[in-house]
Amino acid sequence: MSLKYFTYFVVSFLHMQASNSDSVLFLKNSEDFTSLDTFFDENSVTKLFILVDENTNEFCLPLLENNLNKQLHIIQIASGEVHKNLESCQFLWNELTQRGADRSSVLINLGGGVITDMGGFAAATYKRGIRFINIPTTLLAMVDAAIGGKTGIDFEQLKNQIGLFAHPEMTLIYPEFLKTVAPRETRSGLAEVIKYGLIDSKTIWEYIQKLDASSFEIDPQILTKSIAIKEKIVALDPTEKGIRKSLNFGHTLGHAIETHFLSKPKSEQLLHGEAVAIGMILAASLSAQILNLPVKESKEIALVINNLYPKIRFDKTDIETILKLLQHDKKSKNGQTNFVLLETVGNPILDCQVTEEQIIEAFDFYKSL
Ligand code: NAD
Repeated sequence: MSLKYFTYFVVSFLHMQASNSDSVLFLKNSEDFTSLDTFFDENSVTKLFILVDENTNEFCLPLLENNLNKQLHIIQIASGEVHKNLESCQFLWNELTQRGADRSSVLINLGGGVITDMGGFAAATYKRGIRFINIPTTLLAMVDAAIGGKTGIDFEQLKNQIGLFAHPEMTLIYPEFLKTVAPRETRSGLAEVIKYGLIDSKTIWEYIQKLDASSFEIDPQILTKSIAIKEKIVALDPTEKGIRKSLNFGHTLGHAIETHFLSKPKSEQLLHGEAVAIGMILAASLSAQILNLPVKESKEIALVINNLYPKIRFDKTDIETILKLLQHDKKSKNGQTNFVLLETVGNPILDCQVTEEQIIEAFDFYKSL
């Protein structure tokens, strides 16, 4: 690791300590991970645990094992959203207990958003909180889940129902990890990049409009820009009282859709980003119905997104269940669900209230595409 790089690493870490916000560091070479040993030594880390699933165990863990001197205690859970639950957490807390994790131990979350969400939650609650480091390995986790301190698990069929805000000691971005991720998963992660384009960045939106649906690899500059937007918004509003709500664009209906499909057979389940993509199309329709987003623009947004994702069929009972699930949304207040909608691309409006009829009309719009 070059001196310049190492200095950046240390300075960023000190900045993070001072501001209590996330420290996101980009690693160019696998050897850059060796700098973690310095962090462990300087911060009196006793035991080092690493949470993986079977895929990150196979594709990502060897790189860390080859570049860290400190002994790694590996904890593996099964991959997938259906395992982001209390049972996996209990397993994790039990492993930490049995294997002697104390309050000076550190947990590294090596994986996608399921691992960073759940590992962060388990670490933040174990012995009233131990330190954790996020090393995201999917596009979705790099641009979104691993940054900003939202941790949690699903509970009783409800997405992210149990959780807390807890910031990682640092988040390390190593884009090479993306090379082994399945294309469907990367496309799912792209939904969060699309979100940044629509709420904050014409540059990203223009990039998305030109994207080839058959095969794509994320442009490194778009990756960096997406991460910078997430960091910027989280720094402005860490606990989601205002502007951070804009990051929920497409997620209100997206979460309800994802939850609904989780109860179906595995072959019919939707990935997080696939559900959010539909949520953004519905939000574009609602924006035209409720705000001044021109119908032409709403249709263009919908067509661009629809072209990148498989079309899903919703029958009447699907929509009824999704409407019921909306009532559990964490953004709901007094039984009223608040939506983030668009006045124009790059100009999100928070706390918009919509009726069931308007949501049903949005589903009709989606069907008509
Ligand atoms: P995921 O964690 O399930 O990962 C997707 C799949 O890719 C898994 O099968 C995983 O094993 C595999 N994988 C991961 N890295 C790999 C690699 N380098 N090579 C090969 N395979 C690899 O899903 P995700 O899309 O990363 O994250 C979705 C989760 O993120 C959802 O639970 C969602 O709620 C959450 N999320 C959280 C936030 C937040 O702010 N905390 C934001 C957005 C999404």
